Amino acid sequence: MAGLATVWRRPSWVTRGGAFALLSVLAVWASVETVLWSESRALVRLAEAGRDRLTLYGQSLHDELEKSANVPLVLSGDPEVAALLAEADGRRREARAERVNRRLEGLKEQLHTSAIYILDAEGVTLAASNWAEGEGSFVGRRFDFRPYFTAAMEGRSGRYFALGTASKLPGYYLSMPVLAGGRVLGAVVGKTSMESLEAGWRGGGERVFVTDRWGIIFITNTPEWRFRALSPLEPEVLQALQDSRQYGEAPLPPLALVPGRTVTSVDGEGYVMVSRPLVDGDQWTLHVLMAVKESRAQARDLGLLASSAAGLVLLGLFFLVHRTRLRRRHTRDLERRVAERTVLLSESNRRLLDEVADRRRAEEDLRAAQDELVQAAKLAALGQMSAGMVHELNQPLAAIRTYADNGVTLLGRGRVEAARGNLLEIADLTDRMARISGQLKLFARKSTAVAEPVSLAGAVDSALALLAGRFAADAIDVQWRRPQPELMVWGEDLRLQQVIVNLLRNAADAMRGVAERRLVITAVRRGDTVLVDIADNGPGIAAEVMNQLFEPFFTTKPTGDGLGLGLSISEKIVRDFGGRLSAANRPGGGAVFTMLLRYWEMP
Ligand code: ADP
Repeated sequence: MAGLATVWRRPSWVTRGGAFALLSVLAVWASVETVLWSESRALVRLAEAGRDRLTLYGQSLHDELEKSANVPLVLSGDPEVAALLAEADGRRREARAERVNRRLEGLKEQLHTSAIYILDAEGVTLAASNWAEGEGSFVGRRFDFRPYFTAAMEGRSGRYFALGTASKLPGYYLSMPVLAGGRVLGAVVGKTSMESLEAGWRGGGERVFVTDRWGIIFITNTPEWRFRALSPLEPEVLQALQDSRQYGEAPLPPLALVPGRTVTSVDGEGYVMVSRPLVDGDQWTLHVLMAVKESRAQARDLGLLASSAAGLVLLGLFFLVHRTRLRRRHTRDLERRVAERTVLLSESNRRLLDEVADRRRAEEDLRAAQDELVQAAKLAALGQMSAGMVHELNQPLAAIRTYADNGVTLLGRGRVEAARGNLLEIADLTDRMARISGQLKLFARKSTAVAEPVSLAGAVDSALALLAGRFAADAIDVQWRRPQPELMVWGEDLRLQQVIVNLLRNAADAMRGVAERRLVITAVRRGDTVLVDIADNGPGIAAEVMNQLFEPFFTTKPTGDGLGLGLSISEKIVRDFGGRLSAANRPGGGAVFTMLLRYWEMP
């Protein structure tokens, strides 16, 4: 068992093939054994069935013989029969015989026997049921050679089966002595045909027969077997039988049946023979032959069927085990592969997560560095700017100072109206200064990367409002093609404004040397983006500067006028919003700056 388990644990194809071969041999062996076993079982069962049949056949034979014994038995005590036998007077005997003849004839008809007759002490027939049949009549015939006569004369009942000497028909002869005063007067003999009994036996299917002390078949349901010996007869026995004419001229050929063997064969057919001695008759034996062929074939079929079923079950079992093992191995492989894959996946997941985290950190670092850079640049620029700023602020300051001084003087002179005009000028100038500082503040502000929904038109409107004075002063024709319906973009209101102001101011700067200045602002939605074009009809952008436009501190403007930071800051802001800023030259002249912004969908 341990060895087998080891074999199963390492199921190579060789060991599996070996196991299969072993199982096949076992299956074949089991089949052969099963067939043999079921055959021998069938024979045993057949013999059992034969014994049952034997009892039945024996009973029916016994009944038949008993029935035929009744007539002689009754007649042997009949006074008229006794009187006939005792009658010494010839004429009176004849008269008596005639009466008895008629009685016997009537009885024969009633009882369906073959013949009834009365023998005197010499064995001569005095009266017979067939008295009227002329040639066939037994009357006057001598039967002293028949053993049944001898038995009766000895005061016994004689039982004998023989072929009729006159009729040539086989029959069972039963004799009863007729006694008077302790003397045997004669015998009453009844002959019964066994035809109807044999016919009844024919329906049974088996071969049934009765043999005498020599083994000669005389009652049988197989007519061709009648008067055949079971085995070859000794020559003197044969001679004696022929002398007795018991079976007439029959040659009594042997059947070559060997009683006692499990299977006997006759005429090429196998039988199980069961036999039993009979109480009736003189050493008679009843035999039943049960045909083996069918039951053996059935047994073989059954055995084969059983063993094939067993083989199939075995095969099925083998494949089931094999398949289960295969499947189990498959499942194990699969589980192992899944486990490996899971490990790999989780490793690569972790790596990815690390990578993402690294990248995010790098991005944050970069952004911080950029912010720092821009901030540093802005602060540096502020330093540079301060000269221009001082100039820008000093001018209105000086003007305010002048207007204030003049105002005081005018008030002293009582010229209130003129003083009012000066004050209004002062207010204007402070407004301008506030705008300058406001721009500076906006510029210096450190951006946060938060985007929110912003109205694009609102941002453009505010930028235009901031530059309204400049555009009016420069006589710039502004065409703002406001989008319908309103477009919302991702951004931040103030910074988006700052970008637009930068772009508009650049455009205004670029158009300085142009006679008819025209600025066109359009905004259109393209899927989930919004394109904002700010186009001017200035000189456009020279090819050699196109690549540098967005670099910090790149400017073509004279010192004090431009810091070269506007576009670089604007580009960064738009990128913060998830958009892009680009520049191009218009086919008809002039530059166009395009802001691509993310469209914000109303939820
Ligand atoms: P600045 O305006 O201070 O020069 P910017 O970064 O805003 O700095 O602009 C950089 C340069 O880009 C400008 O000096 C100019 O040469 C060019 N530029 C910007 N806008 C336009 C425009 N609309 N037409 C032609 N050139 C422009």
